[in-house]
Amino acid sequence: MPTYEYLCESCGFKFETFQKMTDEPLKKCPKCRGKLRKLISGGGGLLFKGSGFYTTDYRSESYKAKEKQEKKSYSEVKDKEVVPKPKVKSSD
Ligand SMILES: [Zn+2]
Repeated sequence: MPTYEYLCESCGFKFETFQKMTDEPLKKCPKCRGKLRKLISGGGGLLFKGSGFYTTDYRSESYKAKEKQEKKSYSEVKDKEVVPKPKVKSSD
């Protein structure tokens, strides 16, 4: 029996369910009765591409932290690439 994955477009609730091919696809979220999106099971990372179901609020904190980290590592790399300034010769 194939496994189907559903994602609620309303509350983001994701779950798997066993259904026969002949069964009617679920349409309502068991939690909030919102609209369900049927995901293709067995797929890879394509599932989430461009779906935009994550609100920015949902992950804003981790997103910000990640952004910070990236900026930090970027500046670290940049620092290393900086050509050392020639020593200024003090005049006699
Ligand atoms: Zn829901």
